[in-house]
Amino acid sequence: MMLPGLIVRSSSIHAAGCYTTRPIRKGVRVCEYDGQRMSKAVADARYEGRPVTYLFSCGGNTVIDGFGMAMFLNHSCDPNCETEQDSNHRIFISTLRDVAAGEELTYEYNLYDSDEDSQDCYCGTLNCRTTMFSALELKRRARIAKRKPAANP
Ligand SMILES: [Zn+2]
Repeated sequence: MMLPGLIVRSSSIHAAGCYTTRPIRKGVRVCEYDGQRMSKAVADARYEGRPVTYLFSCGGNTVIDGFGMAMFLNHSCDPNCETEQDSNHRIFISTLRDVAAGEELTYEYNLYDSDEDSQDCYCGTLNCRTTMFSALELKRRARIAKRKPAANP
């Protein structure tokens, strides 16, 4: 499922981004985060050592190996879209507010349980958190860091 009028072009946030050529009203589903579903372990093995992956965690131990337009939506700390899961566990990206023609579509990645050391954010919005990790993930990392023995001075 994809709304007509979406295009991919180069983005100031990261590589390529998804833009709308038409205005979209608030609360409209723009596309589905579609792709093969697999366990996180299988996905980790498949993508080990690759810098760019398009895995969407849909709760529990399942990830979606994304393809299609949804892959091109960049993260922003001040996004105009959000993801929602319907009762059939399908993931849709829908608008949080009215979006004007020409705007880039973005959503909060809220990365959690990542194997990466860091996931820096370059969205450039005023309230940029400088990371794409979720608040929960930052807490989890702080807890782990505390548990490690202090380094010798
Ligand atoms: Zn940001």
